[in-house]
Amino acid sequence: MSKHLPAHASANSEHWQQAILAAIEVGIVVVDRQFTIHEFNQFMENHSGIEASQIQGTNLFEAFKEIDKSWFENKCQAVFSMQTPVFLIWEQRQYLFKFGTSRPITSSSDHMYQNITILPVPSKSGEVERVCIIVYDMTDQAMSKERVEKLNDELEVISRVDDLTGLFNRRYWQERFEREYKLTIRNKKPISVLILDIDHFKQVNDTHGHQAGDQVIKSLAMLIKKATRETDICGRYGGEEFVVLLPDTTTETARIVGERIRKVSQRYLVKHEQVEINFTISAGIAQFDSKYTRPLMWLEAADQALYRAKESGRNCVLLAD
Ligand code: GH3
Ligand code: MG
Ligand code: MG
Repeated sequence: MSKHLPAHASANSEHWQQAILAAIEVGIVVVDRQFTIHEFNQFMENHSGIEASQIQGTNLFEAFKEIDKSWFENKCQAVFSMQTPVFLIWEQRQYLFKFGTSRPITSSSDHMYQNITILPVPSKSGEVERVCIIVYDMTDQAMSKERVEKLNDELEVISRVDDLTGLFNRRYWQERFEREYKLTIRNKKPISVLILDIDHFKQVNDTHGHQAGDQVIKSLAMLIKKATRETDICGRYGGEEFVVLLPDTTTETARIVGERIRKVSQRYLVKHEQVEINFTISAGIAQFDSKYTRPLMWLEAADQALYRAKESGRNCVLLAD
């Protein structure tokens, strides 16, 4: 059997090529070294609203002003000189051709996401005088990737936060505490940790009920947040036990913060079902010191100060030895 196509097939070749170009779900644009457009398929017509007959013979950059000329010339230059394809992905640039998309407006962009392949098109003599630009619509993939990333971000935030108070939970706070501990060993800036606990909280629960107790815990978290800086790292360490990590803070300044929380707590009235509940807190503070060879040793020093505060009558803030 002959390896060559019958004569009539090659005569018809342009016809079936055109049929394929019209049917495929990717954009095809062929340009020469001057960026004059020679091919412009149905996909391109549909999305640009320009007919092939109108655009053929015009300059690519004249027709599509959104294309960054020098950047795209560079990419094509590589194809002409190396005679190998170049791939552009939407993660780097959302699109080459600024086409709309029929996706719902919930998407973050109303423009098509595109992957682009620039292929060398050799002539019969083997010279590459033209390149073929293939446009893939990646909008669906980009949208689902964005959705997954957004969900992951939301999940990460949820997994850090304590439900009742909105402060960091123990696990995440400890993670941050250990990170700050390591940083402090290197940068040697002062940093203090404060641990506080509600006084006689069992009585609050016993007298007013667990719900009222929860309300007190929530109120205290709000007071702690108000009394500290944006850069302080506040967490709920246990039931009615809270921790605050205070970067760039010596014991003396931390004591001022602790006293502020103690005083506002003493004054604050928690309203729960027409009942007003007051409460006090005790706190212990430890500034970082190199003698704390593990993060937990540092926290234990603050906890021992808290213990002494409880021993010495509660409603007070004490410093570690
Ligand atoms: P102290 O002054 O020595 O701290 O006395 P206390 O009664 O507060 O003693 P302790 O700190 O040991 O008691 C904590 C109590 O807090 C025990 C528990 O019933 C209660 N508790 C722990 N978690 C929660 C919570 O999420 N909600 C409520 N309502 N109560 C809690
Ligand atoms: Mg307590
Ligand atoms: Mg406690």
